[in-house]
Amino acid sequence: SDQVAFIGLGNMGGPMAANLVKAGRTVTGFDVGQEACDKAREAGVDVKGSAAEAVQGAGTVITMLPNGALLLSVYDEVLGAAAPGTLFVDCSTVAVSDARQAADLAVAAGHRAADAPVSGGVGGAEAGTLTFMLGCDEALVEQATALLDPMAGRVVHCGASGAGQAAKICNNMVLGASMIAISEAFVLGEKLGLTHQAFFDVASTASGQCWALTTNCPVPGPVPTSPANRDWKPGFAGALMAKDLGLARRAVEESGTDAAVGSLAEELYRRFADEGGAGLDFSAIVNTIRERSAATAE
Ligand code: NAD
Repeated sequence: SDQVAFIGLGNMGGPMAANLVKAGRTVTGFDVGQEACDKAREAGVDVKGSAAEAVQGAGTVITMLPNGALLLSVYDEVLGAAAPGTLFVDCSTVAVSDARQAADLAVAAGHRAADAPVSGGVGGAEAGTLTFMLGCDEALVEQATALLDPMAGRVVHCGASGAGQAAKICNNMVLGASMIAISEAFVLGEKLGLTHQAFFDVASTASGQCWALTTNCPVPGPVPTSPANRDWKPGFAGALMAKDLGLARRAVEESGTDAAVGSLAEELYRRFADEGGAGLDFSAIVNTIRERSAATAE
């Protein structure tokens, strides 16, 4: 069947499902939220009354849910309702261990499974330019890539089940840690009388160069499109950075990795999200660093 079932039609899942419809796929769907269902229906998704109903007749099932616990509960509901051999592709960001458990459950129920978390945010979901980090057996890569194509700028096969989630959290651990490092450098520069522009001009063409500096630059000015120029409207929200770093931290602990900087980044972003930064772009952590620096200045 070329029918795709799409479970979780929120900020990301809604526009992703809409791009599948635009590409000519038959899309059935379900979400527990009324607004998400209404929007998806307008976009041409055949919204059903339950997840189990949505997967009926589908050859593939895509999930885009808030977390691993919800993913496992949805799988519990739909694995028995789907036709044997259905391809399950989870695009949510969840723990590597949850991704592997979900895939194992799907396989045990006679299906095939992949994890395919994304980078690119709501803008990328709307534009159909997401990067998918695919974790699955080699034998599934071609089918999964063709399925994801209308939503994707790029699909990278990262390895076996769970490897997509591993790539996602390793990447975001770098992003979180480097944003803190760049923010600390700007604030230290301020105290030393260095202008933002001068530091930017040097670091962006020297060894301090990174995404946190050149794309989400945490001070207004040097990068006109960065959230610092528009009241820290995300972008990539602090709550999502805290979530992803929490997943990285869990993996760090479960695997016994010595990741001092990544673990500290999780602590700092958790605090940032709890203290008002959840809805701001993650680059707004520079303000916390500046405030704390003012309070402790000699
Ligand atoms: P969201 O909260 O907007 O969407 C999640 C949807 O799942 C909601 O509409 C919710 O009602 C629905 N849902 C919850 N429980 C359900 C259930 N049992 N059955 C059916 N639907 C259910 O979140 P989002 O921003 O779309 O993010 C989805 C996932 O994508 C998350 O795992 C997030 O970490 C990841 N992600 C988000 C972004 C981003 O920029 N928003 C970027 C990359 C990855």
